[in-house]
Amino acid sequence: MKVELEADKCVASGQCVVAAMQVFDQDDDGIAILLEERPAPGMLDDVREAVAVCPAAAIRLIEQ
Ligand code: SF4
Repeated sequence: MKVELEADKCVASGQCVVAAMQVFDQDDDGIAILLEERPAPGMLDDVREAVAVCPAAAIRLIEQ
């Protein structure tokens, strides 16, 4: 599974960091940063939560 983050859509809400702090961080402007493009299987539920709560639909989880 691969995570894609469209940073240009990000509205700096920080929800993804709350949901999956091992996978996402925020820069000084609050824009999300992807720390793990291919998270370990044990992190995927947290990433799915981040996808669900992102108000900008900026995160996708791709099966590959
Ligand atoms: S949840 Fe979405 S909008 Fe909020 S910081 Fe993360 S990527 Fe950006």
